[in-house]
Amino acid sequence: MQSNYNKHKTTPGQEYKIGTRIMAKYTITYKCGHTAEVQLYGKESERKRKIKWYYTINCPECEAREAAKVADEKGYPELTGTPKQVAWANQIRNKAVALYEELCATAPEQNKSLLLSLKDRWVANEVTASYWIDNREELTYKSELIKLVQKSTNFKKS
Ligand SMILES: [Zn+2]
Repeated sequence: MQSNYNKHKTTPGQEYKIGTRIMAKYTITYKCGHTAEVQLYGKESERKRKIKWYYTINCPECEAREAAKVADEKGYPELTGTPKQVAWANQIRNKAVALYEELCATAPEQNKSLLLSLKDRWVANEVTASYWIDNREELTYKSELIKLVQKSTNFKKS
């Protein structure tokens, strides 16, 4: 990352103070090559670390486009909501479904096909961006995730 950091031209941040906070504006470069102007706070070492971190992530637009592409390839239904909500929800859904698939993969053999069929119903049922956004915390935990899938699909343990 160090070499990458040095290779890129980052405009030297013009420091200024608001109250006791030192801030500086930088033009940063994302992993995808796009740039953005950002305001960074804190000590110079902290700001440099943040600048380096931007090199490791894609810009929000590329991230949204990539998520939409993945969702499309997987055949997930289009989500309803504002473009901003949909862009965000696509990313949450992709991660959540991938986590659920991980869970299916480690499940006992006799449960696998049932779990996978629930996945399809779940994804088909939850087509609002707000569902994924509202549940984004729970969707990162396997134990909560399975509860949400069961709730969404009306699954009752017999
Ligand atoms: Zn980009």
